[in-house]
Amino acid sequence: TYSFDEAADFILTNFRKFSPKMADFAKKAFENSWIEAEDRPGKRPGGYCTSLPETKESRIFMTYSNSVNEVATLAHELGHAFHSSVLWELPELNRNYAMNVAETASTFAELIVADATLKEATTKEEKINLLDAKMQNAIAMFMNIHARFIFENSFYQARQEGLVSPAQITEMMTAAQKESYADGLSSYHPHFWAAKLHFFIDDVPFYNFPYTFGYLFSMGIYAFANQKGASFEEEYIALLQDTASMTTEELAQKHLGVDLTKPDFWQAGIDMVLQDIDTFMELTEEYV
Ligand SMILES: [Zn+2]
Repeated sequence: TYSFDEAADFILTNFRKFSPKMADFAKKAFENSWIEAEDRPGKRPGGYCTSLPETKESRIFMTYSNSVNEVATLAHELGHAFHSSVLWELPELNRNYAMNVAETASTFAELIVADATLKEATTKEEKINLLDAKMQNAIAMFMNIHARFIFENSFYQARQEGLVSPAQITEMMTAAQKESYADGLSSYHPHFWAAKLHFFIDDVPFYNFPYTFGYLFSMGIYAFANQKGASFEEEYIALLQDTASMTTEELAQKHLGVDLTKPDFWQAGIDMVLQDIDTFMELTEEYV
């Protein structure tokens, strides 16, 4: 567990290793009370960040209850805020980035913190728990989010033929989950379509793939950061500043020198997750 102040220190220290500007920005957010994180009765878990371009500030609303997952959520939301901040000086039309890159800065910030907590782990048990928390992210991205994509795809196809009944929708939801979890669960969530907010945002269809896209995209950025060292900060900021001005393929080509239309970039991200799984399996061998 991490108290809020410990989380803040931890985030600042680890952001600084990648980008002093990102760390200074986060420090400003903490010092100016841009974050409302109190855990109180009736307040739901989760996080949210909004940008206030007129005053060049951001606000984060989240519930912080000392778990390592919430350190990651806090870093995630600060990543969003940092993304907004590097766009504040640009013309309005160059600030409005598309969904597919909306989760880039946030998942990158989250990855920095998740990896750092893992590196700091001193006992085997701690390491197993942290790896588990980190892998839950991969499960969410490749299975939960994937199920939402499969579901929405079948829903829109069926909707073209006419009205879709709740019974049909429920059936589609279960089928989508079974497919994406490769029949690996003992129970499913047939009414997930009714419970999950994202399905009701009717001006943004497919509000699911940006998460998986951003997750893999930010892993590529993380690998790039580790290889670039000190020159990374300026390049990263330049990339973020172009997020609303070019296609993602152009963005990746210009700033990372990679071709998103080929599978290699995506596979490299997936391989990083597979490494975590191998480590987890080795560490937990004796408990099975
Ligand atoms: Zn986010």
